[in-house]
Amino acid sequence: VIELGQPEHAVVTTCAYCGVGCGFKAEMKGNTVVRMVPWKDGKANEGHSCIKGRFAWGYATHADRITQPMVREKITDPWRAVSWDEAIGFAAQRFQAIQAQHGRDAVGGITSSRCTNEEVYLVQKLIRAAFGTNNVDTCARVCHSPTGYGMGQTFGTSAGTQTFASVAQADVIVVIGANPSDAHPVFASRMKRRIRQGARLVVIDPRRTELVDSPHVRADHHLALLPGTNVAVITAMAHVVVTEGLVNEAYVAERCDTPSFQAWREFVARPENSPEAFEAVTGVPAAELRAAARLYASGPNSAIYYGLGVTEHAQGSTMVIGICNLAMACGMVGREGVGVNPLRGQNNVQGSCDMGSFPHELPGYRHISDAAVRGSFEAAWGVSLSAEPGLRIPNMFEAALAGQFKGLYCVGEDIAQSDPNTQHVAAALSAMDCIVVQDLFLNETAKFAHVLLPGSSFLEKDGTFTNAERRISRVRQVMPPLAGLGDWEVTMKLSQALGYPMHYAHPEQIMQEIAALTPSFAGVSYAKIERLGSVQWPCNDSTDEAGTAMMHVGGFVRGKGRFFNTQYVPSDERVNARFPLLLTTGRILSQYNVGAQTRRTANSQWHAEDVLEIHPHDAQERGLLDGDWAGISSRAGQTVLRVVVSERMQPGVVWTTFHFPESGANVITTDSSDWATNCPEYKVTAVQVAKVMAP
Ligand code: SF4
Repeated sequence: VIELGQPEHAVVTTCAYCGVGCGFKAEMKGNTVVRMVPWKDGKANEGHSCIKGRFAWGYATHADRITQPMVREKITDPWRAVSWDEAIGFAAQRFQAIQAQHGRDAVGGITSSRCTNEEVYLVQKLIRAAFGTNNVDTCARVCHSPTGYGMGQTFGTSAGTQTFASVAQADVIVVIGANPSDAHPVFASRMKRRIRQGARLVVIDPRRTELVDSPHVRADHHLALLPGTNVAVITAMAHVVVTEGLVNEAYVAERCDTPSFQAWREFVARPENSPEAFEAVTGVPAAELRAAARLYASGPNSAIYYGLGVTEHAQGSTMVIGICNLAMACGMVGREGVGVNPLRGQNNVQGSCDMGSFPHELPGYRHISDAAVRGSFEAAWGVSLSAEPGLRIPNMFEAALAGQFKGLYCVGEDIAQSDPNTQHVAAALSAMDCIVVQDLFLNETAKFAHVLLPGSSFLEKDGTFTNAERRISRVRQVMPPLAGLGDWEVTMKLSQALGYPMHYAHPEQIMQEIAALTPSFAGVSYAKIERLGSVQWPCNDSTDEAGTAMMHVGGFVRGKGRFFNTQYVPSDERVNARFPLLLTTGRILSQYNVGAQTRRTANSQWHAEDVLEIHPHDAQERGLLDGDWAGISSRAGQTVLRVVVSERMQPGVVWTTFHFPESGANVITTDSSDWATNCPEYKVTAVQVAKVMAP
């Protein structure tokens, strides 16, 4: 503060990192941020923050920022700096040439959770209206797409059921496949406060996370399951509930679909679904699993919070369904202190999904095949829309390798680093004729790009983000875009160059269009957010002015809650003599996702590289000590990581993060994916680990 001077004014905005969505005051001197101060009126954070939001914003003005549009004929050519008009014209001509030769579905786009709602909406509109295809997908494909499927099928909509504040009324907290202490620190503090007040805690995770035994809290039960066996655990918990008379019969009779419940009850009661039957599969002692199930069912208020350890599996959607089944059977949806809550990893992953960036859905989770819904967008946009769902990200890669997908508009997402099986992704990207990257930095994907369009950071944006509790908050511009244009303006210019002009003077007008076309957003406006601080969707005439704090009160969005049988299917990634360990992945407090932002801040003084955590027994077997280097190989590839010997791991399981491109964590993850959504199975990879010399 002394070096930068005293602030002259402050702008309230929203953190660009995790799905907690903390409000901040950017204290400014001219166009320079002096410091970020947690906003005491922010409903998601109540004046708190973590080290990412508070200190890791310097990347916004980092010297690595791309501030000049660039083009090149071939990816082996050097970049050539050009004007915005030339770069956008170059991109439009290439896309049009591809479509003329290979058909309109030979191109597509990918949006990102780093984009505002308004930016995501515009990108999907460009793809559908200007390109004339539904080949649009979002980075949520690789994180919470199974949440969309599983919660949609059972409850009727894809969103956390509660506000964060609701955890203060939980008697039992179940955390599955999530490490909020590192990934959602401000919400973790609320959770820990409630646990210190006496709430009981169950942690279901292969790793002994901080919640299991920190100086502040201790879990009553840690179900240290083997990676890939989530569905066996949740089905066995359901078995206990059904066979020990713990079903909330009155709740189920009133709120749930009877035929599907009866079929599910018969299914989970089978002896092959008991904790004892699954003990060897999951590695969880049957008695411990029975105790956890009884605790959850007894509540009286039990809340489930889950993360990517649930979704990023070949059975990710099945597991989300299993969680929803259990919550319905025990009557744990629709009041304070209960619910099913996906902890969204990224600031706007909820909004990115809400805004129609999946290839089968228009904004508001409405299927593209619904003629009435499609008709409303066709009337507003003045185009005819295809009723056929487009390609998902992995399908785009497959189509590229088959010579059928040639052009990609990629906004704010580094697919070359973040998607699994890096070699496969690189081959697909290399096969395309036009890749347009719109981003802050020359990321890994940019190595395959033909056009670079400078993106803008959250400090340069006007718009909204939607957090994990469906809370829509304003992102306010605190400095002009470094490259002169905001992301929404770039998308508009590209659309114009493609022959489909859009006419917005400000992102507020984009939100007005979203509200007009999306019933769950009908009551959302910048004026209301200005007045109330934030609103939660659904927000329309039938909700409170500030929207809906709690979902499924009195009834599920889909009507009767629906059960589905959750047959456990072993992962393809199984240990054998060649690959005797299971690798799983997670995050650390100081870094964020692929690290493009946090690696360019002082946060790297705490963690400057990805490491491999390994149990002492497995380390000793391999002659590995703390700080040694280990070669990790899987059926997809191999990489080298520094070793941390840790009792946080169980024997047979190793763990790493994915924040640094040099470590190549995704070189070793495979392209195995969720059966319903193609979400990659990042959390289970059979590997071998061996001591190697320093790279
Ligand atoms: Fe809040 Fe998450 Fe930002 Fe930390 S990273 S300040 S918890 S929104």
